[in-house]
Amino acid sequence: KTSPKPSAHVAVKSYACQRRSPLNHHNTFLTEPLEILAENAEFMENEGRNIAFRRSASVLKALPRVVRRMEDLKNLPCLGGHSLRVIKEILEDGASQEVETTKQSEQFQAMKALTGVFGVGVKSADRWFREGLRNPSDLIRTGQKLNHTQQAGVRYYNDLNKPVTKKEAEAISDMVGKAVRAVLPGAILTLTGGFRRGKEVGHDVDFLITHPEEGAEEGMMPKVLKWLEDQGLLLYQKTTRNSYLESRDGPERAPHHMDRFERCFSIFKLEQTKECSGTTAGAAGMSEQQSGPSWRAVRVDLVVSPYSQFAYATLGWTGSKLFERDLRRWAGQERGMSLSNHALYDSKRHHYLHASSEEEIFTHLGLEYIPPSERNA
Ligand code: ATP
Ligand code: MN
Ligand code: MN
Repeated sequence: KTSPKPSAHVAVKSYACQRRSPLNHHNTFLTEPLEILAENAEFMENEGRNIAFRRSASVLKALPRVVRRMEDLKNLPCLGGHSLRVIKEILEDGASQEVETTKQSEQFQAMKALTGVFGVGVKSADRWFREGLRNPSDLIRTGQKLNHTQQAGVRYYNDLNKPVTKKEAEAISDMVGKAVRAVLPGAILTLTGGFRRGKEVGHDVDFLITHPEEGAEEGMMPKVLKWLEDQGLLLYQKTTRNSYLESRDGPERAPHHMDRFERCFSIFKLEQTKECSGTTAGAAGMSEQQSGPSWRAVRVDLVVSPYSQFAYATLGWTGSKLFERDLRRWAGQERGMSLSNHALYDSKRHHYLHASSEEEIFTHLGLEYIPPSERNA
């Protein structure tokens, strides 16, 4: 049999924000292994390697068809020697030895389990790993000192590691919408993060809140949280005060990708319908089968933005992380501008560029508009 006629090579741009990256693409058999190596590099705190593997995977997500041979990769940007070796091995042998070894390694598995605890970063996880700890129960068993976030993370570990469905995200959206409108009539709630990009499941639900009257949104986070708490909907919350208001230095002073919006990392108590709750029953054979837990824990991120920064905040909180990273890199390297979740600053002309929609921001940046559903870089 002959293979299909050789087609012209597709041109793929080198910045993720110049490409369309749909949710479903043709090369998961390559991107998933590359992302394992990226994650492992992250665990080793090797940021350069992490980004290199993420970029390689991302380029493959933008391809209009399945990669079958190495020639299909000709002229593609961002594919380094190491990634190419991994891809070649997968194309030839069906799997990469390095990826398989990584997945099986005790360190990778332990780091995955430990960083899977809400509130645990790579540094703590690595310290615990070197002390011989392997999973969240080891943290409890050995009486590790945990902060409040990590305690909640351990308590709700199983629930928080179960994917959140779109349906659950919608149910939470209804609850938060009610809370927001009750404390501030006219307030606007937007679903951001992965669900805005069209994902079917997520690790959390992300929201951005604003009000068309500038300043009206100030101080609304505590009120929203109180409303939710009074309804018994909150299992945990930690608010970060908006340091932007406190320090009064312009938005350009925000440390690189961290923004200064008033924000809350929380865990919601979501009532479950009968069909959903049965599957979470405990040990095998237990009679809880019909009457499993009536609720589950879900991670929710809330951010409040002033109306004047809403477009930038929406763009910044929609992701994906690599898409965001490349937007900032594009702004800096190609346009001499500085992009944050608050604003876009033109460093040559020394002024801020106003935007009331994401489309305007892409225009300011000299980029073709990419809709949220194609930002899955
Ligand atoms: P998932 O389905 O796993 O939740 P996601 O794309 O929604 O995928 P999140 O970690 O929830 O991932 O992040 C959503 C968006 O919020 C991303 O665009 C990310 O850049 C932004 N973000 C996350 N954490 C911060 C932070 N600490 N400061 C600023 N922006 C952040
Ligand atoms: Mn998310
Ligand atoms: Mn989030």
